[in-house]
Amino acid sequence: MGSPDVIVVGGGVAGIAAAVSLALAGASVHLVEARRRLGGRATSFVDAPTGEVLDNCQHVALGCCTRYRRLLDLLGATDALRWHATQYWVEAADGDRERVSRIRPGVLPAPLHFAGSFAAAGFLTLEEKLAIAAGIRELAATSRGQWEDRTFAAWLDAAAQPEGARRKFWEPVIVSACNAWPDRVSASPAIKVFQEGLLASRDAAMMGVPRVPLVRLYEEVPALLGATGGRVLLGHAATSIQPRLVTMADGSTVRAGRVICALPLEKAVVAVRDERGEVDRGLTLLASRQTFSPIVGVHLDFDRPVMEIPHAVLVGAATQWVFGHEGDGRRLHAVVSGAAGWVEWSQEQIVEQVVADLAARFPRSMRGATCTRARVVKERRATFEATPSFERARRVAARWEQAVSLAGDYTDTDWPATMEGATISGFEAARRLGGRIR
Ligand SMILES: Cc1cc2nc3c(=O)[nH]c(=O)nc-3n(C[C@H](O)[C@H](O)[C@H](O)COP(=O)(O)OP(=O)(O)OC[C@H]3O[C@@H](n4cnc5c(N)ncnc54)[C@H](O)[C@@H]3O)c2cc1C
Repeated sequence: MGSPDVIVVGGGVAGIAAAVSLALAGASVHLVEARRRLGGRATSFVDAPTGEVLDNCQHVALGCCTRYRRLLDLLGATDALRWHATQYWVEAADGDRERVSRIRPGVLPAPLHFAGSFAAAGFLTLEEKLAIAAGIRELAATSRGQWEDRTFAAWLDAAAQPEGARRKFWEPVIVSACNAWPDRVSASPAIKVFQEGLLASRDAAMMGVPRVPLVRLYEEVPALLGATGGRVLLGHAATSIQPRLVTMADGSTVRAGRVICALPLEKAVVAVRDERGEVDRGLTLLASRQTFSPIVGVHLDFDRPVMEIPHAVLVGAATQWVFGHEGDGRRLHAVVSGAAGWVEWSQEQIVEQVVADLAARFPRSMRGATCTRARVVKERRATFEATPSFERARRVAARWEQAVSLAGDYTDTDWPATMEGATISGFEAARRLGGRIR
């Protein structure tokens, strides 16, 4: 390897965002990734039995994820997401009658754009709707900073939300957006999800679902870096990261004008050192506060179409969300976030639970349908939990000087662990280097 202007270590969304924005600013960048493909936790794998490229888990962006959408523009992948304005909330069927509530923006301007379809939704009682409407009004005016030290469950208590409203509405939204349950997650990021994802504008809650395997979103990265003399180095693990020096697993070293560490926190805390070989105290603080939350994804093929709608929140089910594969109701992907209760189950138990949840909600189409293939992906350390303790540490650590510029979803982005947070951190790390390249 030659000596580039910048080395970015870690080829997940954060590293890609940093590398691409620096290359577009004219820097030569080496993007070093331990695995054989880009994307980190937001990527794909080859399913050995079929040779098919599958995503490790369905990833969804919201309309309010403006920096992630900007990154897709830079990667020439703007059209790679299909945007859905309607959300489908599906209760257990009444006999053979499916019960689907469609939540979508109506004629009223934001923040009232969901009022019409929400009022008509069948999955909530009138009492629950009134409580949620009052809660949302209160939440819109809440200052997030005041709630950082308390959980979202505490906020729900303070807002007197009844049990049914929590179970059927607040929990599905927060657990899938933050990958943490209300009694664990700080109220601050949870409130942000509602303020920015639901209420800010008509388009903010639109759901962007990739039409192609995630790994294809990053196909342009080598060309973008190559244009300024940089490159992507796959299958290269770094063991030590210092301000101008990266040591690789084979013992070789590479020098650069600047270095960005875009590793996950638990790897960054081990690898990052200042010029004197001292550990980064911000990373040490954060790593000591980090807890993980698992996500389980299930790829399912049926012998016939079983779900007509493009995606569904399964109200009152253990399985939280189901996505249809590009309008083909035969291929589904189920997602369970905050899945601590699921990860010890066998593949068979997991598939059985998901199929039972589908059968209870889509009885006519599921009757007689056979699941021809199932692939379960358990991500035990899917994301950090944005607990009050971790959120506090993110703010504190961000104020301390860093010898190596840090990027990653865990940095102080104000977002829970998301592609948007990862992108913000990458852009910000690149911006910080700015004039300091060489
Ligand atoms: C199952 C699952 C579902 C999710 N769903 C969503 C969703 O729907 N929407 C959403 O916005 N977010 C979702 N997320 C969260 C999102 O994927 C992450 O927040 C984001 O991708 C993190 O990006 P990152 O670049 O910070 O970290 P990572 O993706 O972890 O990237 C770090 C990179 O560093 C590499 N690396 C590690 N060690 C070394 C080394 N020694 N040398 C070189 N490279 C190394 C890793 O291989 C990896 O590529 C989901 C995550 C999971 C796991």
